[in-house]
Amino acid sequence: MAKSPKERSLSELDDFLTRGGFTRAKRPKGALERQRSQKPTTSQPRRSKAPKAKAKPKLASIEILQAEWNLPWLVHAFSTRGGGKSTAFGRTQDLNLGFSKHDNREAVAKNRAAFLKQAGAAELTLISPKQIHSNIVHVLESATPPASTITADGLITNVPGLLLTIQTADCVPVLLVDAKRKAIGAFHAGWRGTVARIVEKGVGAMRVTFGSDPRDIRAAIGPCIGQCCYAVGEEVVGEFHSQFSYADSLFKPYFEDDPIKLKYPLLFLTARAPGHSNLGPQIHLDLVEANRRQLLDAGLKPKNIWSAGACTSCNTDRFFSYRKEAGFTGRMMSVIGLRQ
Ligand SMILES: [Zn+2]
Repeated sequence: MAKSPKERSLSELDDFLTRGGFTRAKRPKGALERQRSQKPTTSQPRRSKAPKAKAKPKLASIEILQAEWNLPWLVHAFSTRGGGKSTAFGRTQDLNLGFSKHDNREAVAKNRAAFLKQAGAAELTLISPKQIHSNIVHVLESATPPASTITADGLITNVPGLLLTIQTADCVPVLLVDAKRKAIGAFHAGWRGTVARIVEKGVGAMRVTFGSDPRDIRAAIGPCIGQCCYAVGEEVVGEFHSQFSYADSLFKPYFEDDPIKLKYPLLFLTARAPGHSNLGPQIHLDLVEANRRQLLDAGLKPKNIWSAGACTSCNTDRFFSYRKEAGFTGRMMSVIGLRQ
């Protein structure tokens, strides 16, 4: 069987070292797979696919992710990447839902229309805030859309006909619904918003504004960067430790996954002064767990917290990932609304 370029370079290195009288260290089995896999925290996401269009059989369908809430008066969905008209980010059928200078406005508008149709939300009034990594939660009290763009990272309402939206590409989108009071919320939680307790604050805002009992609130955590891929610096670790007594449980050391370095660690260790090795562990943050903890602290029942369980950075064929694609990528949209 033909070897991949990576396998070929490894076997060449093996031969070279054998000729030189060296023996190699064994690479841990499944090391790559272990770091890259991320299991869903609860049930598997339900996927809904559009039937194939007969006129254009080559166009991929739009995949949306939904929690199994079965509330007929509610619309909610997390978008994914395929089935769109955008070509700005190196692919031909990207469903980019974020307007930006990089992508064609018309394509994004078509993508949005197709996604909203697929989500059953085409009739609702779309509310898209300017997100600033804060803990600002805005209450929408009227069916009339606001005259100017709202600056916030959380939206809540009990007004039917409005579609609350959050845009992400790695950050955590969280949707909330109080099934008893028919109130909803949408939140954007990157690491800064998470440290600022945007989700915890959002549940509090629903309690104060709508009289929601957290035990009636269900949460859906959408696709975001997994702990497998989310290396952070010391300042992030410090910020979390200053805010959360459970901060330790949110971080885990991950080791280098370059197969050549894993096979020949000594070659790389001896080349660097002590303390300057790049083989040491990187600290990875679990943003999903951080937000799950906040939801639990706010009074939600564990069984009412659903997670898509998919890492955006591991799956750029299926999701946009700001970090994996070095900032040049599209945006996914998370939406929730009360039907009229
Ligand atoms: Zn990952």
